[in-house]
Amino acid sequence: MKRKNKILITIIFMIVGMTALKFTQSEKIPDDWRLILVNDKHAVPKNYSPQLTQLSNGIYIDSRIYSDLQKMFDDARSDGVYPIVSEGYRTHKQQKQMMKDKITGFVNEGYSEKEAEKLAKKQVAEAGKSEHELGIALDINADTSYSSDEEVYNWLAENAFKYGFILRYPPDKTNITEIDYEPWHYRYVGTDTALEIYSQQITLEEYLS
Ligand SMILES: [Zn+2]
Repeated sequence: MKRKNKILITIIFMIVGMTALKFTQSEKIPDDWRLILVNDKHAVPKNYSPQLTQLSNGIYIDSRIYSDLQKMFDDARSDGVYPIVSEGYRTHKQQKQMMKDKITGFVNEGYSEKEAEKLAKKQVAEAGKSEHELGIALDINADTSYSSDEEVYNWLAENAFKYGFILRYPPDKTNITEIDYEPWHYRYVGTDTALEIYSQQITLEEYLS
């Protein structure tokens, strides 16, 4: 083989190799699925599709968190508190629609399109940037025939970490999470991590930094 051809082939291999590396990096799903960070700066990994379990009220969640959730709800009930999952796994498309509806709501209240977008973004994550697309983030409210939301939120704030769930958007951390306080939004991280995050009173962002 001529020297020139050899050099050319080497260059081609280098380019292909670098492209492949870049591709695998952007597609990479972190080793521990419980610690995937999703926020405004970190999108849901591409092609992420967890195995889902459907709850009796029709909501889907990641199958791997089902038994811990079940245990948590059983214990809450035996303490006289009755939680329900009101939001679980959301598809990309559903998240997109949610944002659209939120913006429309603010526009209808009289805000300009730009202001409406800004307000909506504080309450709803953009498609591709919502933990709900992972299936391990849940909105938990009260079964209001038996409990008030307040009771459920208080119980969760004190106990959820024992089952691997963390309060993802605490009131005093909005500067870090960039999401308003959501007493209903819990995110699964596993019991070891949840204990650490709970006892240090930090966010997932701080834990992973
Ligand atoms: Zn939520």
